[in-house]
Amino acid sequence: MARRDWIRGVAAFCLPGGALLLLLSLAVRAGLLTAWWPRAAPYVSGTVLIAAILLAWRFRRSRALYALMAIALTEVLLERLGMRAFGAAALLLPLNLAAAGLLRERGVISRAGLLRLVALLLQPALAAAALLLLPAASATFFLGRFSSSEWMARSGLPQPSLAAFAVAAVALSVGYGIRRSAQDSALIWALASAFLALDSRGSGPLPALYLTAAALIVGLSVVETSHRLAYRDELTGLPGRRALEEALASAGGQTTVAMVDVDHFKRFNDRYGHDAGDEVLKMVAARLSEAGGGGQAFRYGGEEFTILFPGRRAEQALPHLERARRTVAAQSFAIRASQRPRKKPGRPEPSRTKPRRVFVSVSIGVAESSSSQDILSAMKGADRALYRAKGEGRNRVVLGR
Ligand code: GH3
Ligand code: MG
Ligand code: MG
Repeated sequence: MARRDWIRGVAAFCLPGGALLLLLSLAVRAGLLTAWWPRAAPYVSGTVLIAAILLAWRFRRSRALYALMAIALTEVLLERLGMRAFGAAALLLPLNLAAAGLLRERGVISRAGLLRLVALLLQPALAAAALLLLPAASATFFLGRFSSSEWMARSGLPQPSLAAFAVAAVALSVGYGIRRSAQDSALIWALASAFLALDSRGSGPLPALYLTAAALIVGLSVVETSHRLAYRDELTGLPGRRALEEALASAGGQTTVAMVDVDHFKRFNDRYGHDAGDEVLKMVAARLSEAGGGGQAFRYGGEEFTILFPGRRAEQALPHLERARRTVAAQSFAIRASQRPRKKPGRPEPSRTKPRRVFVSVSIGVAESSSSQDILSAMKGADRALYRAKGEGRNRVVLGR
């Protein structure tokens, strides 16, 4: 199980950004793009950037919008000013991508959003002023050599820019470590793409290619995040009600449906608090998603879950449901004193601060359908069976007729 989680984690991190970047660099190496990319570059990169910016704006993803504006600004700077702007662009882009990672999601059309935009647009103005008014100092600042390391000399990037990339890589990795979101992994791959763009030095079709890839990666993360918002349940991470409706609509032929309900959950909430209740829901969701046997778990709503077994008969699903039920019932749950609503305010007793271990159970009703027409009546059948499971004493699986 742990190994599967690990593989899933790596895939979630690498898709689609890492895979896209890998394919692109392989295509570049194989010379697949040389013939057409230089001519197509201005159109493709403009279209991708505008589409991604519109998406980020429409779905109010202000961090993605900031990153995309920074990428667009870099493209414009390199295209208009070429090598003169290279040092500044190569220093500012990684820092801006890091900033996008560290920023909080605030509205796009808000004071914070406007301030961020102004901060971004001021950068080229300040850099240009520095280059004009203090050419020597700004050359040191943007292009200076602080270390004589061979390794650094191998890159086409000035040392301040390399340092900025390193800082940004650390900042974005920490952000991904904490949030594990599609947006945060996309920013890491966008940073890698920006590195490839700038490492190939200056303006031209190759930097534009990798900057476009960076914009595409961030744009795709906006689509992914919005899809998640629509189809995933925020608390448990399981697919939500909307995803279930669509799965039911497209289910055909033999399907087994299980309705799962946490037992005496109201009592649990009253006794240990709503936050502890939420932790229980997460635990139950995790166990149900591991039910196996081809079962797909959804959060139906509240403390109710649905598991669909497409193409399975009820007798094939039953052992998996029985095992999931037993796993939930066997798992003890730590309640910290701070989670419990305090009855008597005042001195906490030492024994109270020790986590207490409690248990929860689920009842499951099961029914099967043999065609797409009666999948909804199978849902109702599973619901009736669940009701019977409750009546017969809870913590059990009941098969409906
Ligand atoms: P039974 O064994 O008959 O199912 O009893 P029950 O108490 O579980 O049933 P009931 O439907 O009366 O209570 C469900 C409770 O679930 C009520 C509500 O407070 C709680 N609940 C619903 N959604 C959430 C949630 O997202 N978080 C938490 N913590 N509690 C929730
Ligand atoms: Mg209920
Ligand atoms: Mg319940």
